[in-house]
Amino acid sequence: MPSIPSSKPYRIGRSKTGLGLFATQKIKKGTKIIRYFGPMLDSKNKKHDDIDNKYLFEINNRWTIDGSVRKNIARYINHACRPNAESDVNSRKRKVVIRAIKTIQPGEEINYDYGTDYFKIFLKPIGCKCDHCEKKRAKKRAEARAEKLRLKLKADKKAAKQAEKQAPKSGKKASKAVVKASKSKVSKSKAASKRKAGLGSAKASPHARGTGKPTKTKASRTRPLSRAQPKSPDLATRASST
Ligand SMILES: [Zn+2]
Repeated sequence: MPSIPSSKPYRIGRSKTGLGLFATQKIKKGTKIIRYFGPMLDSKNKKHDDIDNKYLFEINNRWTIDGSVRKNIARYINHACRPNAESDVNSRKRKVVIRAIKTIQPGEEINYDYGTDYFKIFLKPIGCKCDHCEKKRAKKRAEARAEKLRLKLKADKKAAKQAEKQAPKSGKKASKAVVKASKSKVSKSKAASKRKAGLGSAKASPHARGTGKPTKTKASRTRPLSRAQPKSPDLATRASST
């Protein structure tokens, strides 16, 4: 970390996104805070045009400051969408200074707006972490939570109303269902009694007893009868012979 003379009104310190530049003294609005400097890159120079880092400060179509050099303390200044400083560009002199646009209190982080191009390329994809955007996100989250709660309450109310409406209806339905159930029970019991009657008659028939399955079809029930028929003459003949 480069050392800063104590006469300067700022220091490098920890910020939300890594390091940042913080005021150590009150900096009045309009005061020049620091110069943003580094080697000048010429877009007409192929070698210069190939240089790429996140500290490039474009002055105009032709000239860009490579601010990645260690001595350029201004590179520690972070972006903010509602900053307390601005970059003051003198295109003719190819000079950039950071100037306070609000009075900055000691301990406050110094920041300036990096511009729409930087924002779109570097910050939008990861989400800007500046106070303004964090607050905006927090507000949106709070609003989303409130909306969710509102919808839930509405749904609960609706459900409660519906339940209230359905309460008498469902009572009727329930009684109908009971009637239906009892009807079906009746028909079932009728069928059972019919079956029982059949069972009874089958049991009553001495021929059917041998099958042991009174629920079988008539044909099967009649079979033992027909089979039994020749038996009886046989028995009769046997009985007559003995
Ligand atoms: Zn922001």
